Amino acid sequence: MIAIEKAERLKTLPPYLFKELDRRKEEVRNQGVDVIDLGVGDPDLPTPTHIIEALCRAAEDPANHRYSSYSGMHAFNAAAADWYKKRFNVDLDPRREVVTLIGSKEGIAHIPLAFIDPGDTALVPDPAYPVYNTGVRFAGGTSHFMALTRENDFLPDLDAVPGKVADAAKLMFLNYPNNPTSAVVSRAFFEKAVAFARAHNIIVCHDAAYTEMAFDGYRPISFLEVEGAKEVGIEFHSLSKTYAMTGWRIGFAVGRAEVVEALGQVKSNIDSGAFQAVQWAGITALEADQACVEEMNREYQARRDILVEGLQKLGLSVFTPRATFYVWIQVPKGMASAEFAGRLLTEAGVVATPGNGFGAAGEGYVRMALTVNQNRIQEAVKRFETVDFLRAAG
Ligand SMILES: *Cc1c(COP(=O)(O)O)cnc(C)c1O
Repeated sequence: MIAIEKAERLKTLPPYLFKELDRRKEEVRNQGVDVIDLGVGDPDLPTPTHIIEALCRAAEDPANHRYSSYSGMHAFNAAAADWYKKRFNVDLDPRREVVTLIGSKEGIAHIPLAFIDPGDTALVPDPAYPVYNTGVRFAGGTSHFMALTRENDFLPDLDAVPGKVADAAKLMFLNYPNNPTSAVVSRAFFEKAVAFARAHNIIVCHDAAYTEMAFDGYRPISFLEVEGAKEVGIEFHSLSKTYAMTGWRIGFAVGRAEVVEALGQVKSNIDSGAFQAVQWAGITALEADQACVEEMNREYQARRDILVEGLQKLGLSVFTPRATFYVWIQVPKGMASAEFAGRLLTEAGVVATPGNGFGAAGEGYVRMALTVNQNRIQEAVKRFETVDFLRAAG
């Protein structure tokens, strides 16, 4: 036997806060409770049929069985650029300003390797998708966390970033519509972010995973729509949530050519591109009629309405999300996120994610994902109504 010792970068990762909750979820399930899991941000709806058919056709073509191009098939990058033009009226050169990703998480995790050296700093929102911080740390950098607070509409207060930190920072991560808070962004904030990035020479990495998942007719904007954004940044887009394709692993990044190129350089040393048949299916997803997206959004919106109304009736402090399939709920005063989620599980058999799992500033909140059908959400609400601590909270 040899001694197995993990690298510092793994040993010093922040603790996985959901471990205890996962353990209790298993325990409650084993007791025979019919657990309703609102914990996972993974669409339960199937991928639309026309996309699956495109995959099947492409999978039968031997030309697609070989290594693909590192930066993505030209046809996929061109489809992504066309989609950006149609959706956001943003012009992109598919040869220089688009790179195909094996899911956007892959690009988000790798971009720090292109720009962060040991000791460097990145600006990272808190609470946030954990990959921003882990990517920075794996590259040897340090995250300066920008708290997203209710008082500031869950936008980072850029004026609160100390000047020295801003000058030292190489990257800034942003994500709107936001996971986990479901907050949306105004053009004015993105304009401010561009000015801030220019003033401090920072590359903006905007995670746009949820721009297509929106309700009540609201159409989220792209960071790249804002004047000057393409000079300072890159935007990550994912087909995962938009087309219910999380398992397929396909996404793309667009923006400043040198940034796209550097990310591609990292990738060419690590992976060998996404399966071409999946890229062809992705082309179909981007080019076909987008009615399937509207249909899925109508379903999420109906679920949202059941859950938000149920929670508000109990007197809980929750606002109605205009985008994303998350509901961000303030836990009653005097209770911690983990305690609230723990009691929700043991007393109602419902899984919610404690907000502090997304960062310290998420303490005081829990996140519920709209990833079970309307009947199950109705059932969850019915159970909440029978739980004493929730009724007392209102
Ligand atoms: C789901 C999610 C992603 C990752 O999407 P993939 O393309 O499947 O890797 C990225 N960012 C946020 C905020 C997400 O919630």
